Amino acid sequence: MEIYLDNAATTKPLKEAVETMKVYLESKYGNPSSLHFKGKEAFNDLEEARKKLADITGAKTNEIIFTSGATESNTLAILGVLRANPTKKHIIVSKIEHSSVLNLAKQLEREGYKVTYIDVDKEGYININQLKKNIDENTVLASIIHANNEIGVIQNIKEIGWICKNKKIIFHTDASQSFTKVKIDVVRDNIDLMTFNSHKIHGPKGVGVLYKKEGIKIRPLFLGEQEYGLRAGTENIANIMGFVRAAEIAFKEFDKNIKNIFGLRDKLIKGLLEIKDSWLNGPTDRLCNNINVSFKGVEADSLLLMLDEKGICASAGSACSSRKIEPSYVLKAIGLTSKEANSSLRLSLSKFNTEKEIEYTLKIVKECAEELRKRKI
Ligand SMILES: *Cc1c(COP(=O)(O)O)cnc(C)c1O
Repeated sequence: MEIYLDNAATTKPLKEAVETMKVYLESKYGNPSSLHFKGKEAFNDLEEARKKLADITGAKTNEIIFTSGATESNTLAILGVLRANPTKKHIIVSKIEHSSVLNLAKQLEREGYKVTYIDVDKEGYININQLKKNIDENTVLASIIHANNEIGVIQNIKEIGWICKNKKIIFHTDASQSFTKVKIDVVRDNIDLMTFNSHKIHGPKGVGVLYKKEGIKIRPLFLGEQEYGLRAGTENIANIMGFVRAAEIAFKEFDKNIKNIFGLRDKLIKGLLEIKDSWLNGPTDRLCNNINVSFKGVEADSLLLMLDEKGICASAGSACSSRKIEPSYVLKAIGLTSKEANSSLRLSLSKFNTEKEIEYTLKIVKECAEELRKRKI
């Protein structure tokens, strides 16, 4: 038995994506910058891939920059903007950003920049008034995660983007969790910079995108020629093509997948909340594949081990912090105590999950939680 319920950490690559990658690893291996026919073949496919992602997000083709993943895209967005605007020394982030943004923000503080960390309410929505009040002439950028990877809260990026636009600062959003699950249009949603990646949408690891609106200035992290001079290094054509194949399929199946995943999610939430002394973290109206439930008095670490033995892959908090015993900063930001945060289970679904798996999982979680509570008495 193998039940994979950790799709916020990474997803199973689609067969179609792997097949596509094989073509580029085995035969269409040209360097897109080469002028011979092998190079041109790779270049044309790369540009077609770029156009597909642009069409999906409402961007222009030349606004899509390929990177090595969401961590790099987030870093390129934030550092890139700061370096292009050397007189401005203040940025704004939320308290529930992904660690790749929060740890960069902390490093920037050590380097002398000012960072404002916006609070969230008990469901995880950012404090809009605090955002507005903290923008001043020294502020250059706000980076606010679209859908949170732990509690599935989806921010109103259109409104946040509008505020940033009016106050003349740059708006970056990390949409790694929401891409292919929530429809995004970079123009409608007032987005200047947007991060998304491949391995959260059934593509390969090690590839992502930074959307950069025309006219927004950033400085590159790696210097050279490729990607409009903004991300040097020979394009990882096999990964890029696998990524785009996965994105295409996700959008073709959008309505069907979302509807099924929503159904499984709500069944799981309903069943988990039938366990005594449990509660849902994050809002009811949340990312279609995210479940985060706490069980009073149950240590999530022990629960995860028991689930693992039963063939269920789950998570407590975010994957990046799961090797540490520190309680999740996201759960603390929505008001949980350390103890409460350490009794939280995150399950994240994909189109590959089935009704049967959900029923089995509910049964096992219930048994394990009861067993762990009994052991404590
Ligand atoms: C997974 C994830 C990242 C990191 O993505 P990589 O491509 O592994 O670098 C960043 N932000 C969010 C919201 C994520 O879920």
